[in-house]
Amino acid sequence: MTPREVLALCRERDLNAVDLRFMDFPGTQKHFTRPLSRLTEASFEEGFGFDGSGMRGWQAVNESDLLVVPQADTAMVDPFMDRTLALTCTVRDPVTGEDYPKDPRNIARNAERYMRSLGIADEAMIGPEAEFFVFDSVAFDSNTHESFYHLDSAEGQWTRGRRAPFPTAQGPSGTGVGSDGVSNSGYQVRQGEGYFPTPPTDTLQSLRSEIMAVLEEVGIAAEGHHHEIATAGQCEVDMRFAPLLRTADNLLRYKYVVKNVAARRGKTATFMPKPLYDDAGNGLHLHLSLWKDGAPLFAGGNYGGLSDTALHALGGILQHAPALFAFCCPTTNSYKRLVPGFEAPVNLTYSYRNRSAAVRIPVNAQRPEDKRFEFRVPDPSCNAHLACAALLMAALDGIQNRTDPGPPLDKDLYDLGSEEVRDVPPVPATLAEALSALRNDHEFLLRGDVFTEDVIDTWIRVKTEHEVQAVRRRPHPHEFALYYDV
Ligand code: GLU
Ligand code: MG
Ligand code: MG
Repeated sequence: MTPREVLALCRERDLNAVDLRFMDFPGTQKHFTRPLSRLTEASFEEGFGFDGSGMRGWQAVNESDLLVVPQADTAMVDPFMDRTLALTCTVRDPVTGEDYPKDPRNIARNAERYMRSLGIADEAMIGPEAEFFVFDSVAFDSNTHESFYHLDSAEGQWTRGRRAPFPTAQGPSGTGVGSDGVSNSGYQVRQGEGYFPTPPTDTLQSLRSEIMAVLEEVGIAAEGHHHEIATAGQCEVDMRFAPLLRTADNLLRYKYVVKNVAARRGKTATFMPKPLYDDAGNGLHLHLSLWKDGAPLFAGGNYGGLSDTALHALGGILQHAPALFAFCCPTTNSYKRLVPGFEAPVNLTYSYRNRSAAVRIPVNAQRPEDKRFEFRVPDPSCNAHLACAALLMAALDGIQNRTDPGPPLDKDLYDLGSEEVRDVPPVPATLAEALSALRNDHEFLLRGDVFTEDVIDTWIRVKTEHEVQAVRRRPHPHEFALYYDV
């Protein structure tokens, strides 16, 4: 869509407001609204001003002015707002007139641009699978968690002294499932058997179908949906693969749609990687393939039907994997997902079919145009623009250096007794470890000015201060169970 077509759409649909969307550094969507009369063809060049000092990790208050520049090809009529056009924006520095280097969307776009400048490929296709949980509410557990933490919405901080929020979910506690009007039906998901049950056991069918319909309405081609394996309300709605920047934009829109459809039904959805102890976590698997002149580059005669290019890309990804975790699994909670037994990766290796490996080559993708591999590391707490950009940079590095990925491993990697498994490097154990891996290995991200040294430093600083230390310094609820009576 061109700016002129966007304005025509607004007249045709009788809209009266334009909502400008972008994301902060960690990846949370932000927005502000203007009357539609303020949107002209020139706005798509000139942008709209806002205060960049309000964003985590961006500008100091004495240099706070930034611009959002709406992108016409992202226009959608917002399904949750009245008569409102939504536009995804990139961020520009009004002083230099340049793209703002800490805008994640600019970084994703830079990665695509850099790939093309190398002549290796002209399109990086990414197909995402983002999992999430739907809960009936986030309630307070008055029995056992009275005096722990409370999310203070004014301060955005966990503070001590009040009750902890606790999700009540569909599932074994029999709390009155509530979803889709089915409550206490007696049809409960057994531990680890949430994959594919039909209604009435699956109580979230119509919610997922509504999400899928809204996605299509806002221009995201869906692939399908299902209940995921966890015992309590875990869902996945898949969208079709698309070029890197488009996929990252789609993921931001996907989270918005999922949360708002859930809210419309009086429920709450979370993309937190591991909301429930001892049950499956939420992954964001990314299926990657590279293309040139309309032809797929990943199909060939090697292991798993992969080309040399694909194996080298894989080699680059595995070599830089510890650093990639800092963007792909960027929260302290991410590392609670990466444990044996729940189909999340625990070792840095690759395999045909194997869901316990960091990279899986899907066996049912036999046609050359379907050939891809699935990077199973990321989770949906990541900033998809940064994670996809970093993933592509690692793949390009591998291709340029013809990096050997080593032998595949077709074992169950959760079988810690096995000798082969013991030799495979494990995934980082904590966010702090991943950030220090990024500190030591980020030259591959700086090429073509895709990421800047300032972006890397700021990421490590913001994540360390706001998350690693903030969590490390607070007593954990379970510590009371372990240590109260010491
Ligand atoms: N929930 C698993 C994860 O954390 C993935 C399950 C699946 O393979 O779909 O990555
Ligand atoms: Mg899944
Ligand atoms: Mg998958």
